Amino acid sequence: MTIEAFPPPDAAAAPRTPLAPAMGRGFLNRCPHCGKGKLFGRFLKVRPECEACGLAFAEHRADDLPPYLVIFLVGHIVGYLVLEVEMGYDVPLWLSLTVWPLLTLVLALGLLQPVKGAVIGLQYAFGMHGFGVAPPVLGAGEKRGGEAGTRAGDAPGLGNA
Ligand SMILES: [Zn+2]
Repeated sequence: MTIEAFPPPDAAAAPRTPLAPAMGRGFLNRCPHCGKGKLFGRFLKVRPECEACGLAFAEHRADDLPPYLVIFLVGHIVGYLVLEVEMGYDVPLWLSLTVWPLLTLVLALGLLQPVKGAVIGLQYAFGMHGFGVAPPVLGAGEKRGGEAGTRAGDAPGLGNA
């Protein structure tokens, strides 16, 4: 017995970008499918679809994973640095109370968008949530429009559960 995790590939569709490049593109604010269009419109606001290839981003479900990962990363980075510096040097209290919160804030805000992009790239690579449909053909050139019916029709497996 075989269990299909993803919908069967569409012959007309472009192959899905593998996990690592898809996450890397998302990390760099690029569409995980084509790598050309931008993923975010504003700081954490994901665009409804890719402006270059038409991949729909709207159904992504990054939810709470990006902040969780950012807290995990920043906590380990800053926690390690605090231990190293405070154990090795005699740092004045005012400096500690200034540098560590500031570094935490800068790292958290700086990592939030890239990490969210990488999470969306991961969801795309695994065909999760709104990415369960076959990805658009690359190199079509023009922006897609008026194909609202294709999403529901092409999604035999993972849709919006
Ligand atoms: Zn794209």
